[in-house]
Amino acid sequence: MEKIREVAKQRRLLLVPCPYQGHINPMLHLATYLHRNGFSIAIAHTSFNSLNPNRHPDFTFICLDDRLPDDLVASLDIAKLLLAVNDNCKASLKEAMATVLRDVVCVIHDEIMHFCGEVASGFGVRSLVLRTNSISTCIARSVVLQLHAEGRLPLLDEGSSMEDEVPNLYPLRYKDLPVSAHSDIYQSTKLVHKMHDLTTSSAVIWNTIPFLEPSELTQIKTKIYNQIPIFAIGPIHKISPTSSSSSLLNEDSACLSWLHKKPSNSVIYVSLGSVARLTNHELQEMAWGLVNSNQPFLWVVRPGSVRGSDGIGFILEEFQKKAGDRGCIVEWAPQKEVLAHSAIGGFLSHCGWNSTLESLSEGVPMLCRPYSGDQRGNSRYISCVWRVGLTLEGHELNRNELEKGIRKLMVEEEGKKMREKAVDFKRKIEDCLRENGSCARNLKELVDFIMSF
Ligand code: UDP
Repeated sequence: MEKIREVAKQRRLLLVPCPYQGHINPMLHLATYLHRNGFSIAIAHTSFNSLNPNRHPDFTFICLDDRLPDDLVASLDIAKLLLAVNDNCKASLKEAMATVLRDVVCVIHDEIMHFCGEVASGFGVRSLVLRTNSISTCIARSVVLQLHAEGRLPLLDEGSSMEDEVPNLYPLRYKDLPVSAHSDIYQSTKLVHKMHDLTTSSAVIWNTIPFLEPSELTQIKTKIYNQIPIFAIGPIHKISPTSSSSSLLNEDSACLSWLHKKPSNSVIYVSLGSVARLTNHELQEMAWGLVNSNQPFLWVVRPGSVRGSDGIGFILEEFQKKAGDRGCIVEWAPQKEVLAHSAIGGFLSHCGWNSTLESLSEGVPMLCRPYSGDQRGNSRYISCVWRVGLTLEGHELNRNELEKGIRKLMVEEEGKKMREKAVDFKRKIEDCLRENGSCARNLKELVDFIMSF
């Protein structure tokens, strides 16, 4: 290993994350792991949601000129914004690779940052794609593309039942297909087309765990990407556990002291990730559901996560008063530490893929409230396949349903069974991380693969 590290030291890798929290985190964990294995690391990031180099003094940072107009950023149309990032950052990356990044031997880029593959191949440099969603999501996206090609999107227009299961895609129903609530269908299918094009890629690195989706992994290896290697190295957040935070918002660690005072498995942690937004009405339903459940709760309410946020501060203060010491409301939490805390007994989550893997890794059962994109599909796996959670199905968040769901998960027999299953998953994941486990083996193969360039 020492010898590999010595040789690797001379090799510089360029990593390019997509500028959203759920994509930045896995890429920076991967960067930390590769750096520990001797590689020199450069990170190219956009000026939109730019990273803080001071937090990662071992890496070199290059800021790409994304030239995103303010109105596009403010529009919250994610697919349109990411298509613009892909167009606008090309010149800046080319210039960096011709000058300060001349010695890069390999580029690892988020699947969304597809322009990097094209630029790298222009310099004769190999590139690898990092996929930060599940394999099932990738397969489901192919179905979305197919439906789009047949002129059947948006699905609501065609009168087919959204409750029907999609053929050959168990457990997903039409309403669970990964369609973004934040983007126009034309823009998002254009982006997915590009993400699925691997002509310039030498391999795919996947933040998934083989035992979670074994048939999907086989399907993708044999039928879809049979020309290039796939390295399923998840859960990525566990491969470099002590890496410094890559949070775009400041983590409020005071909630950990609050958790220390709570009994084991008593607290429900509530977070809807970095993108999902609530209406003012939903916020109030959530607050009442939490207060009425009588369970201790730790609730993340991200700044800007409520549409028309006027008066939100006042509403939250009132609810904090009602809940007293039974509730703790923060703007952003150190989520991985929170989920690992013994006081946490459940996770009310939007079911982003990182949150899902982080919860499974700590044996925490989930109450699923998916919003957009891959979240519905993830919640189906959580509740119907892995059976470590239950889903709040209604279109509108409702305080009574939420209260019932929290009780089921936290105090009733059904929740107890889910907790046992979740703890089982935690053990299995620990096995994957041990020497000769799937994660450790696939990481070693990945390092060998990069060393072979
Ligand atoms: N996260 C965090 N603190 C919070 C809420 C979220 O650190 O208060 C992190 C979480 O640990 C995860 C990421 O933000 O790594 C969210 O990614 P995910 O894929 O779950 O959802 P997204 O934000 O992409 O919808």
